[in-house]
Amino acid sequence: ARQFTRPLNDLANQWNTILSAIAGAERVFEIMDEDPEVIDEAGAKKLGHVEGAVKFEHVSFGYEEKGATLQDISFEAKPGEMIALVGPTGAGKTTLIQLISRFYSPDQGTITVDGQDVTTIQRKSLRSHMAFVLQDSFLFEGTIRENIRYGRLDASDEEVEEAAKMANAHSFITRLKNGYDQVLHADGSGISQGQKQLLAIARAMLANPAMLVLDEATSSIDTVTEIKIQEGLQRLMQGRTSFVIAHRLNTIRQADKILVMQHGRLIEQGSHEELLGANGFYSELYHAQLKKNVV
Ligand code: ADP
Repeated sequence: ARQFTRPLNDLANQWNTILSAIAGAERVFEIMDEDPEVIDEAGAKKLGHVEGAVKFEHVSFGYEEKGATLQDISFEAKPGEMIALVGPTGAGKTTLIQLISRFYSPDQGTITVDGQDVTTIQRKSLRSHMAFVLQDSFLFEGTIRENIRYGRLDASDEEVEEAAKMANAHSFITRLKNGYDQVLHADGSGISQGQKQLLAIARAMLANPAMLVLDEATSSIDTVTEIKIQEGLQRLMQGRTSFVIAHRLNTIRQADKILVMQHGRLIEQGSHEELLGANGFYSELYHAQLKKNVV
């Protein structure tokens, strides 16, 4: 099983305990900011309108003094593009995403959003332009409506339902005994894994950010729900720069750009067709996956 590493993982794990206590009180990143790995530089600015252009230039990063986890990573995501990250466990995909959202800062090189070095941007401001749909989507003890509204606390009931419809979550919600007022337990019992994902998509939809981080589910979800999730994600990603840790070939194939990672390096990048044509590591992965019949 792949581990979604700290601090995103910690966040997902701590979510239930912390949020059940302060449901609806604060936004998620304020909690993370209590233990900042990265402190805002003096004079760090707020981001205004964000287009979502993301650029890495020769970025290296190591968790420890010795040994770089990411080495010399350069790529560009244009506004609205879908970027798929692929590669074996431990390749550095999660770490790369954690650098974009500034849980850590690069040791070398620069990361820019709309041309602005992220180290000159207030973290809270940067993250207010991002939403996360992770494998363990975080729910707190409260109603479905409250759980979705967490994406944007001042949203009206109509806006919550609109987001749920866009996310393909509305139909399952309205089939629950109490609909949007159904109380979820902190452990998420009472709804399925796939339904939790739909709620996470609805929450992100409501937040309406320019940038998205998705960690595609690996656990098996029934086919009908899976199709709903795919459709919901499709709509969510529309017009937003999306970084997807992708496990499914279908997802990967439709990416504007695939970043192929191995041992902390970006060894190939391009579209599905370009990478197949290059006959390298991606093409190898692709054919291995075809053989396993997990397309
Ligand atoms: P992937 O997402 O591709 O599986 P990761 O980015 O999670 O890869 O991990 C890349 C490498 O960094 C791995 O060797 C992993 O053990 C290491 N690593 C990840 N998180 C931490 C951490 N918080 N502290 C130290 N090492 C870490």
